Amino acid sequence: MSPTESALADTIAAINIAAYTKTRNHLDGKVTRLSPYLTHGFISIPELFKQLPKLTLEDKLAFEFGWREFFHHVWHRAGDAIFSDMRTPLPGIQYSDTLPDDIREGRTGLPVIDRAVHTLYQTGYLHNHARMWLASYTVHLRKVHWRVAADWMYGHLLDGDLASNHLSWQWIAATFSSKPYLFNAENVAKHAAQAWHCPRSVIDTSYEALETIARSQTTVGIHPSLLGISEPLLSAPPDSLSADKNVLSQNRRVQLVHPWMLADSEFDGLRLGIIHRPFHQRFPWSQQRWDFVMQRMQAVTDHIFVGDLTELSTMFTNAADISSVATFNPGYRELLPVLCSDLQDSPRRFPDPETACRSFSAFWSHCTAASTDAPRRTWHR
Ligand SMILES: Cc1cc2nc3c(=O)[nH]c(=O)nc-3n(C[C@H](O)[C@H](O)[C@H](O)COP(=O)(O)OP(=O)(O)OC[C@H]3O[C@@H](n4cnc5c(N)ncnc54)[C@H](O)[C@@H]3O)c2cc1C
Repeated sequence: MSPTESALADTIAAINIAAYTKTRNHLDGKVTRLSPYLTHGFISIPELFKQLPKLTLEDKLAFEFGWREFFHHVWHRAGDAIFSDMRTPLPGIQYSDTLPDDIREGRTGLPVIDRAVHTLYQTGYLHNHARMWLASYTVHLRKVHWRVAADWMYGHLLDGDLASNHLSWQWIAATFSSKPYLFNAENVAKHAAQAWHCPRSVIDTSYEALETIARSQTTVGIHPSLLGISEPLLSAPPDSLSADKNVLSQNRRVQLVHPWMLADSEFDGLRLGIIHRPFHQRFPWSQQRWDFVMQRMQAVTDHIFVGDLTELSTMFTNAADISSVATFNPGYRELLPVLCSDLQDSPRRFPDPETACRSFSAFWSHCTAASTDAPRRTWHR
């Protein structure tokens, strides 16, 4: 995946709405791989609906876009509460606050897990099923608290999105759903190529047996091999870039471009890329993700500021009009309204109900009630 306009255009041109519906659950299915472009705001969901005129709310793809906006709705209403258990965890279990080395290094001895970790490091992307398997194994079989593992996965994904990622981990862990998500060897065999299969392993068992493990303190599935790989997470871009203060003080119209609004749009004034260091110290990214973001930021802005956004206001001595797009990412969320005279809402296709929806089905009912082209139906993941 490359951070360019032409790669995005190719990704959109390759979308096949009908094939997506039929095959999306298989690791080799016709998923879109739009997620890095959506996360970093190269394109928005409303814009995708315009570019895919045949897409209706009855299509599975629209439904999945709905999931993304649902998670952002919850983030908007709950704020930093999404970083803690949203509901009471499974009773009587002590989860570890450390991600074991054999998981981090992709050498647990279970092909489905080790392949997922290697794919994550090599490509910065994982199919939804691979994410679910990796998360379920980590939380329910190894008894690792979802939060530490979610932070790790978030940093390595090119599409790492705090709402979609952390709330999905909570959904797997049963702190944002009513039951733990579990998978077995048969499920892997159905949805992945042979190299991922795990016959005669700890997951080659029934869902009842897995549920018993998930609801007890038992830890299983540790047969680490010696050879693994590891990838560091970095709390700042690889090469520090700093904005020229003279340029900042000269411009009257400035648009602040953060990492989640990297569309290539026209602007009459200075487009200033901003990297707010305190956020990235809290949520570091892989080198691969930094490259993806910084390459694009350089292409769509005039200058880049890397530092603490609180220092920026003193540099705009002449700016009368400072604009940006709102984001819920901590630090950016609080400081952009202080810096900007014009802060637009981030674009959405579906409503953002005033009262927080506790479930996707409640949220989807709102979406379908607000729309004429959507069927009312129950939801299956
Ligand atoms: C443990 C875990 C962690 C996840 N972390 C992230 C994350 O950090 N960022 C992220 O964007 N998604 C995350 N997801 C959701 C989903 O796995 C990815 O959005 C999807 O796999 C991205 O690939 P794609 O673009 O090919 O998806 P497609 O299947 O082609 O879907 C198209 C778009 O719909 C949205 N979408 C699809 N499925 C979901 C879903 N279940 N939840 C939310 N949005 C969805 C995404 O924006 C995606 O790009 C996570 C899921 C799990 C189980």
